Amino acid sequence: YLDEEKEHLYSHFSASDIDRYNYIQQSLGRATANNELFIELQPQYNGAGSLVSSEVLLRWNHPHLGIVTPLEFIPIAEQNESIADIGLWVCNEACKLLSECQTKNINTKLSINISAKHLARADFVSKFVAIVNRWRVEHKCLTLELTEAALIKGVSIIQRRVRDLAQQGFCLSIDDFGIGDSNLNYLQDLPINELKVDKVFIEAIEGRKEKKVMVTNICNMAKALELDTVAEGVETTGQLNEAKACGCSAFQGYYLDKPMSVDEWRGKICE
Ligand code: C2E
Ligand code: CA
Ligand code: CA
Ligand code: CA
Repeated sequence: YLDEEKEHLYSHFSASDIDRYNYIQQSLGRATANNELFIELQPQYNGAGSLVSSEVLLRWNHPHLGIVTPLEFIPIAEQNESIADIGLWVCNEACKLLSECQTKNINTKLSINISAKHLARADFVSKFVAIVNRWRVEHKCLTLELTEAALIKGVSIIQRRVRDLAQQGFCLSIDDFGIGDSNLNYLQDLPINELKVDKVFIEAIEGRKEKKVMVTNICNMAKALELDTVAEGVETTGQLNEAKACGCSAFQGYYLDKPMSVDEWRGKICE
């Protein structure tokens, strides 16, 4: 059957799309156990060009469908329980890497994407923290990226989780900043550390004066609130220079590095 949300998502798709949806949903439950998931990492650099952190990006190598993008399977995972298994699996992979870095005395940070549906679960914080502590990872080395939409819609439960996590020393970041409904109230109310300026601003930053004005003002507001700003989706040297001129504090995108395998990333941070 189709629940309301699914029906809305898929109402203009064909039967074969619904078959694919159902097929993905069924095979998602076994993806972690079958070792079909893997991660890639995409570095973030500061204005001086030093690698300061990296975003963990999830990939799924499906035995029959091949590589399935998270843009397709995360919303499906959110419809059932598998988002929790998947989210905790990503957390474990990130902690494994951070623990390896700590052993080698390499000082670095990782950002992971957290689904609002997962964050809302009553056992999220305890399970998440149990994994982090099992690997003896310093909490301040982990940033949790939440989408702006999740925080705005995200009722008091999400806000309580964000406060809990901040109190435990984790960093909190607002992903895709600037494209959600612009309700800025939560910025002063919540213990957030970072804004990720969405790539729609960065891709238009060279030609369009109004985009530059918006990014500059986001950065000024962030500075006043003592938040870092990461420019997302930097694809050209021109975009990098403009984002720097607007006052962004860190930069991520294909121009700097594409998402890379764990082995490539190891090579990079050991340079
Ligand atoms: P996001 O968090 O906004 O991640 C950034 C996306 O932009 C990534 O796509 C990344 O590969 C891509 N990207 C990076 N640099 C550039 C660039 O210069 N230009 C362009 N056009 N794109 C760039 P990806 O890896 O396909 O991930 C898509 C989305 O899937 C992510 O968007 C995030 O919302 C979600 N996602 C990825 N991994 C996870 C995860 O572990 N858990 C959850 N809940 N969601 C995830
Ligand atoms: Ca993200
Ligand atoms: Ca983003
Ligand atoms: Ca996004």
